[in-house]
Amino acid sequence: MTGLNKGLRFIVLFLVCFTIAAYGWFILGGAQKEYIVAPTNSTYKIIDDSGQNGATTTTLNINKNSVLLECNIINKAKWPFCEIAVSLTDSIDNGIDLSSYHSVGLDIDYTSPLEGERVRVYLRNFDPVYANIADPISLKFNAIEYSPGMDQGLQIFPLRSFQVLSWWIAENNIPVDKSSRQFDNISIIEIATGSYIEEAPYGIKLNRLVFYGNWITESALVKLLLLLWVTTAVVVIFIERFLLNQKIKTSEAHSQHLRDANRLLYNKSMKFEYLACTDSLTRIRNRHTVTEWLEEITIQTKLNNIPFSMIFIDIDHFKVVNDTHGHSFGDEVLVKFTATIEMLIRRSDVFARWGGEEFIIFCPETNMGAAVDIAERIRDTIMTKEWGFDKQFNLTCSFGVAELADESCDDLIKRADLALLKAKKMGRNRIEISWDRQQYK
Ligand code: GH3
Ligand code: MG
Ligand code: MG
Repeated sequence: MTGLNKGLRFIVLFLVCFTIAAYGWFILGGAQKEYIVAPTNSTYKIIDDSGQNGATTTTLNINKNSVLLECNIINKAKWPFCEIAVSLTDSIDNGIDLSSYHSVGLDIDYTSPLEGERVRVYLRNFDPVYANIADPISLKFNAIEYSPGMDQGLQIFPLRSFQVLSWWIAENNIPVDKSSRQFDNISIIEIATGSYIEEAPYGIKLNRLVFYGNWITESALVKLLLLLWVTTAVVVIFIERFLLNQKIKTSEAHSQHLRDANRLLYNKSMKFEYLACTDSLTRIRNRHTVTEWLEEITIQTKLNNIPFSMIFIDIDHFKVVNDTHGHSFGDEVLVKFTATIEMLIRRSDVFARWGGEEFIIFCPETNMGAAVDIAERIRDTIMTKEWGFDKQFNLTCSFGVAELADESCDDLIKRADLALLKAKKMGRNRIEISWDRQQYK
């Protein structure tokens, strides 16, 4: 998570810097654009009252830096006038979209008989809703009227200060939704003499005509920056979730791997434990595994005052079996011998190979009499059993039985061993019991 936080901090820092830089760039005018109207990208012509039966005479001089209209106003037409008409494009229905510009700069020197006389500036917009190519008057009149004076330099007017002429709205029956200012398809700009002029020479010298705008508006910039923040946040959340899922998957795979390894180890250890606990030949318990259990059960038996007996078994003349039939045959006999005894004892009895052809059956909650019964059952079964080998084969074994008295388990085993020895001495294939002195009382 630390790595992600570090990355996140870097992203936030980057976004903050980018936002400040972008907004600063905008405030300092980095997004500004200009559209300069000049003889190189537009054509200039004269319009005057001659079309309305007027007698005004006009001349137009176009040079590299300025355009000069000189006219001699004659009071003949109803509304005498003269103007410079600037065509921005070849066709009036295919103008220039100036809606992204916010103001216009005009540098005009106006020669008039009276000081402070005004000129009219029209930005003519074509829209098929109200205009048609055949009638130039049908283009919308976005108009201002101002007094340029002489040598006043560039004067800047916001485009929102332009008004649509009311007579044009009325004459063309313009619907309300189309009667406000519109700059999306300007094809002609007109600079005309003022509304109230007299018979005199007039001069309109257009030094500079320029539109100012921004490549992007402030609100669009703010929206874009907001979009950038939101998109980045969404992407970061998505990546974070993806990385988290990956981590969860990796750690799940890792813990599954550990679980598998654990299970393998457990299985192995169970196998080793089983191998360590059992006798490799007969697969019954071996002497070592019984020792601990024996000490514990001896204590419990004495504490609870319940009987506990053991039967020591030794196969008779087993050496002869080996000598006569071979050692591996002797092994087979041992396996069958233990399997036979296992069938005869209870689940609670513990049967262990004590060494060679000697075995012990520990019988919890069993007194001497019951233990002797078990021993007798085993003795009889072994003696009479058909061993199934294709040889004439008989087997007997001797037993020493003892019941736990106030003694250690070692002493109990010793007593059972002595009883077994006695059984051997007394002629084998028999059961001898060992009575503790206290048990005689
Ligand atoms: P006794 O009646 O006095 O017990 O006579 P015995 O021959 O059974 O006793 P002894 O102690 O003389 O011999 C025990 C024999 O048991 C000798 C040994 O080779 C054999 N024996 C011990 N462990 C194994 C074993 O794992 N496999 C085989 N095949 N024989 C074994
Ligand atoms: Mg022996
Ligand atoms: Mg023996």
